[in-house]
Amino acid sequence: MLRLFLPFIAAFTLFLLVPEQASASSTRLSGSDRFEVAVNVSKKGWTSGTSNVVLANYNAFADALSAGPLAYKLNAPVLLTHPKVLTDVTKQEIIRLKNKKVTIIGGTGSVSSSVEKQLKNMGLSVERINGKDRYEVSYNVSKKLSNKGKAIIAYGLNFPDALAISPYASKNEYPILLTNQNAIPNFTKRAIKEKGVQQTIISGGEGSVSALVAQQLPKPTRIGGADRYEVAANVIRELNLSTYNTFLTTGTTFADALTGSVLAAKHNAPVILTRPTSLPDTTKALIQDKVIKQGTILGGEASVSNHITSLFGKSIVLDPGHGGTDPGAIGNGLKEKDVVLDVGLKSKELLKNSGARIVMTRSTDTFITLTNRANMGNNSRADSFISIHANSYPGTKPNGSETYWNDVYNSSESKALATEIQKLLIQKLQTDDRKVKEADFYVIKYVKIPSVLVELGFISNPQDAQKLASPTYRRLAAEAIAQGTINFYK
Ligand SMILES: [Zn+2]
Repeated sequence: MLRLFLPFIAAFTLFLLVPEQASASSTRLSGSDRFEVAVNVSKKGWTSGTSNVVLANYNAFADALSAGPLAYKLNAPVLLTHPKVLTDVTKQEIIRLKNKKVTIIGGTGSVSSSVEKQLKNMGLSVERINGKDRYEVSYNVSKKLSNKGKAIIAYGLNFPDALAISPYASKNEYPILLTNQNAIPNFTKRAIKEKGVQQTIISGGEGSVSALVAQQLPKPTRIGGADRYEVAANVIRELNLSTYNTFLTTGTTFADALTGSVLAAKHNAPVILTRPTSLPDTTKALIQDKVIKQGTILGGEASVSNHITSLFGKSIVLDPGHGGTDPGAIGNGLKEKDVVLDVGLKSKELLKNSGARIVMTRSTDTFITLTNRANMGNNSRADSFISIHANSYPGTKPNGSETYWNDVYNSSESKALATEIQKLLIQKLQTDDRKVKEADFYVIKYVKIPSVLVELGFISNPQDAQKLASPTYRRLAAEAIAQGTINFYK
């Protein structure tokens, strides 16, 4: 059901407001393998070259866990190599960067002396940061960093907790020191002492760094979590990091997070983690709570698939019409307010699965004024606004789906969004195509981001109403809204 009245005050205040620039973007730094991802990260972050490169083994995370802060300090991309021979794409990137120095992280077992020789033959100076184990390597890396009185403590036998906090550590030049679960290795103790560490941040739960270890650390603060995904999200929450730029990468292998973490630090961006084909609940919850305006996906589609990132970096307002004392259209045993709330909530879940942040104007059966709905659209730092309604008309004959846009703000984008959603609605619901139309409905007129108003079907028409009553069709309507939105942003 449509509402055409326009409150006078809202029309007046309109002139006092400056339209917000709605521009969101997510980019993928991809590659057919981890070598290429590292190279593409390097190309993105160091477009005109740099004097230093950090080189690590492609397959051994242990040495590289603590490398982020040093690479950041040196303004050096982290590149990867096979242990016995310098990987060709890496070699080509080193040539492009015109760097003078390569810092190898790890012993000759990780990066052999023949690789070292190859680099020297290219006219480069080579420094190796060595150690008999990962703890000594991290100790030796820490010696290259300025003393800041703070250190990060992370579990040394796995990678996610160290890498999740790496951009923060890098930005602040805090060393990442490694520990066992139940005992602090001697080299880590030495680093704490020699670097005058007075405060420590533990990245990870007690399953990786025990309470016993925590007790022996100077002024420890723990950033825990039930799993790696939650730890990464909690790093952002507890350190109150800006998420304007945020990197998303796989939590199941280390390479992309390692090579991307230095670039993330350069962009003041934290890293959040995902499974390759589904976003973990804790990652989705973080996306809901924070506003991400620029998303960067690290890795190819095999490590972070397209369908979970198609709306990463986008915020969408869903506006189920009516509610509370306003039932909207009534007919054939249905109330519009119930139908559109159900479709709205189903759309929310689907859009979240694609990486979007969703703002609901209502999630329950409550009355919200049109002015408040439009204000939510304008004040929630969102990228688009979708109002969901069902139609009604005297008589049972009129039927079909239609989608409206308005020509006051972002008219061409609004029309394009309406067109994409309408196309999917007709496909999925098999309703009559009443087309995309321009109209002055309040919410789409006063919301300044691209905005549309969807009329799913006619509650007053028995065939349409049957579909609107069906959970299957409501799910299809939600799929149409979600897929139409994804197609619009493609
Ligand atoms: Zn309505």
